[in-house]
Amino acid sequence: MIEIDHVSIEYPLSHAPFSILAVDDVSMSVREGEVVTILGPSGCGKTTLLNAIAGLVHPTAGEVRLDGARIDRPGPDRAVVFQQHALLPWRTVSENVRLSVEMKGSGRAGTAVDLAPVIDLVGLKGFESAYPRELSGGMQQRVGLARAILADPRILLMDEPFGAVDALTREVMRQEIERILIDTGKTVIFITHSIDEAILLGDRVVVFSPRPGRIEFVGQVELPRPRYSYDARARPEYIELREQLWQLLVGGLDGSTDEPAPGRSANDGT
Ligand code: ADP
Ligand code: MG
Repeated sequence: MIEIDHVSIEYPLSHAPFSILAVDDVSMSVREGEVVTILGPSGCGKTTLLNAIAGLVHPTAGEVRLDGARIDRPGPDRAVVFQQHALLPWRTVSENVRLSVEMKGSGRAGTAVDLAPVIDLVGLKGFESAYPRELSGGMQQRVGLARAILADPRILLMDEPFGAVDALTREVMRQEIERILIDTGKTVIFITHSIDEAILLGDRVVVFSPRPGRIEFVGQVELPRPRYSYDARARPEYIELREQLWQLLVGGLDGSTDEPAPGRSANDGT
């Protein structure tokens, strides 16, 4: 179980005498095997909070605990899929993916690790020998995803992992991710800017306020899994939660968004 206990995170500013409050007194717990998705405006501290769970950033106040022990550094029990794909430019796709097993200490370079299934899973078959510079942004993100999946940590921390992935691939990958989560029972925290993705993947959806990030809303997703096996978007529970989230995130704004307003009505047998 992950406990985020009254966590505030400030960054010092080099050009000003004050600091910037990125996360403001956030408390929440994530149960073993739970999938929590996080939505919130850009700059509200989502990445900062995820990095605190990863052990890469230290809270200014409060603490994050894993099974009761304070998190103060990264560990093999947690893997991060970064918003910006942290790939080594001098390594090929395969070599970048294999990094995760090398970091775990099992399978030094050269040891046979079967990378084919995971590379296939993220749709990079045929690109095993390509270098990061030869890949699109979305493909680079999928290398990062393959790496995290191969590392097989208890906890997956995903920071807009599909941000640069095209819509169709994104749909397929979301379904694959749900399948993996069901199969492995991993604990997941998944940041996204897509309301649909947040509902389709999450057991709970957490909405953050604009900076400094605070928890503004928590919604339970009651849709049965696997959600890819039926048209979850047509369910009344889905439509209701989507409307709620949409109002929270974009309802007050007067402008366009990549999330169209809910237009469908509940018609699946109610
Ligand atoms: P989000 O992921 O929700 O877009 P971030 O956690 O990346 O937000 O950033 C939250 C706030 O903290 C932003 O105002 C950002 O400018 C600031 N910030 C993030 N990282 C740093 C840093 N390393 N140093 C100073 N300020 C930072
Ligand atoms: Mg971010």
